[in-house]
Amino acid sequence: MSVLVFVELADGELRGSSLEAVGYGAEVAKMLGTEANALVLGNTVGADKLATIGNYGINKVLNVSDERLNNGVIQAYASVMHQVAEQQNANVIVLAKSSLGDAVSARVAARLKAGLASNVVSLPDTSAGFKVKRSVYTGKAFQFTNMTSDKKILALKKGAYAPEPTDATAEVVDTTVNIEEADFNVKITKTDKVTGQILLPEADLVVSGGRGLKGPENWGMIEELADELGAATGCSKPVSDMDWRPHHEHVGQTGVKVSPSLYIAVGISGAIQHLAGVSSSKTIVVINKDPEAPFFKAADYGIVGDAFEIVPKLIDAVKSA
Ligand code: FAD
Repeated sequence: MSVLVFVELADGELRGSSLEAVGYGAEVAKMLGTEANALVLGNTVGADKLATIGNYGINKVLNVSDERLNNGVIQAYASVMHQVAEQQNANVIVLAKSSLGDAVSARVAARLKAGLASNVVSLPDTSAGFKVKRSVYTGKAFQFTNMTSDKKILALKKGAYAPEPTDATAEVVDTTVNIEEADFNVKITKTDKVTGQILLPEADLVVSGGRGLKGPENWGMIEELADELGAATGCSKPVSDMDWRPHHEHVGQTGVKVSPSLYIAVGISGAIQHLAGVSSSKTIVVINKDPEAPFFKAADYGIVGDAFEIVPKLIDAVKSA
């Protein structure tokens, strides 16, 4: 019996949400009186960085370094994760809730006949069974799920668990599994990366713009404010629908869900579908010229005024801070 935590790599880095999952998995292992190991597929970050996963409470990083896995091929990932879970006799698998995590966890759950709980926001209550709290209905409610299957997969919601890293490092162990060519039936031929930008789902600070900005030519000030703050840029759905901004920046129910410590919404009305993507933000600042804009009800701080006057002032204030 053990806990296995899947760690995603992105752009030569360990994903922050995966490191939260490692800390969470280590804690679950402690509760169950067993050990937790991390699993990394492909290796685009180097052994030294893999060893730092030990900062989050695990002793061993199992690395399947076959370079065909560097591209996030879901079918192959599911096959490898299934095999490693069996090798390790893992009865709990933890991963970060993400689009890759969603695709892989469902397949691994089917292979292992495991129960799957997604969007988990708390450590399990093991006093009577294995009960987890999940965020449901785009963050509007919590659900308590008692998992009765032998094997359990938990997909942790970003920001739901904050581990305290230490200086400890982990042993990186090369792990061999049987990878068939058939696992690569669907091949990723090219990934167009948006270089030099902070990944929106991972971002700790987000500056987001809506239709109130009138046109794509006015995004310079949003980008400048984001640059000054070290923030990612986001937008509302109509903005990406009109091609003012790329689709991967669209925040909301049908777009990216963000969980930053600060979300600054500029010229966004605050429709329910947009709010569904930002409800996990710790602090929300709304800038809107309409005092009746619904976003103000969800805001921690609101500025009523013209974005074209306020944002440049904010940029100056951040620059001189
Ligand atoms: P608007 O509603 O046009 O609001 C613009 C705001 O800018 C207004 O509040 C206005 O007062 C303000 N403004 C104007 N000028 C200025 C200025 N100079 N300075 C400051 N403020 C100014 N939307 C999403 O965002 N994400 C989703 O995932 C999403 N999914 C959807 C799914 C479905 C099924 C449907 C039906 C809709 C979805 N929508 C989504 C659309 C959503 O309902 C709203 O239409 C959309 O969020 C509105 O975008 P907006 O706030 O940018 O534009």
